[in-house]
Amino acid sequence: MECRRCGKCCIRPILKLCEVGKEDNKELEKWLTNYHCEVFKDDKFMYLRLPFTCSKLDFNVKSGTYSCKDYENRPKICQEYNCTQERMVTEVLEKFKRGELK
Ligand code: SF4
Ligand code: SF4
Repeated sequence: MECRRCGKCCIRPILKLCEVGKEDNKELEKWLTNYHCEVFKDDKFMYLRLPFTCSKLDFNVKSGTYSCKDYENRPKICQEYNCTQERMVTEVLEKFKRGELK
């Protein structure tokens, strides 16, 4: 799928943490305490939503699109990002907000 440069993947990004039941409580505590993440899950996975926008995200007022200021050196997680997959994660978040998940 072609990137529309909407920036959603870099604004309060959602990360898939682990399979449900396989969470490392110390790691989870770190995310909750240090980053004040939102944690939610579906029947398979646990997810984290970071409460901040990446500082490398740039907005072009003229075109109304976002880009990465450090694209060539962006982290591995950004290089491997699969928008279609993340869309599914976003849909899970929407379900969570509607109270359809625990
Ligand atoms: S990759 Fe990111 S910027 Fe591109 S369409 Fe997907 S969510 Fe938007
Ligand atoms: S480093 Fe670039 S691609 Fe990665 S989250 Fe930040 S702005 Fe987005």
